[in-house]
Amino acid sequence: MLDIVKEPTPSLRERSKELDQDFLLSDEVQQLITEMIPTMYQDDGIGLAAPQVGKNVRICVIGKEANLDSEEDLVLINPVWQKTSRRKFVDIEGCLSVPKTFGKVKRYKSIHVEALNRKGERIEFEAKDFLARVIQHEVDHLDGILFIDKAKDIYTTE
Ligand code: ZN
Repeated sequence: MLDIVKEPTPSLRERSKELDQDFLLSDEVQQLITEMIPTMYQDDGIGLAAPQVGKNVRICVIGKEANLDSEEDLVLINPVWQKTSRRKFVDIEGCLSVPKTFGKVKRYKSIHVEALNRKGERIEFEAKDFLARVIQHEVDHLDGILFIDKAKDIYTTE
């Protein structure tokens, strides 16, 4: 299991680097992806980005519970998204890197996503609602942004 990097840690605030095909297919990166999935589930996370385990590369994993059409966890390499509608919605978010802290974040309700899968194949799809929210949260991590930068009504629990 990988250790979760927590705020405040400077590497969480860096822009993570794109992966090229060779690096993506390397044993090192494939192993990282494989270990990220149980690490995400360990603390009841629904998504995890590589900078949260100390690797500043553009990888995120998203639990199948967020991805209603799929039986599999979603692995996104070099993900980019664009809004497909101007509508936004507010919901409460938390983050494994900011423990016991929650706040209301406004996100786009529907987005178009392009990425590579872990085999290096191009994928693209539409995401709505909760899945769209999780993807926007994870891609923010790849740009060094945490949900607390955007959240309102932040509160902590013990
Ligand atoms: Zn997070």
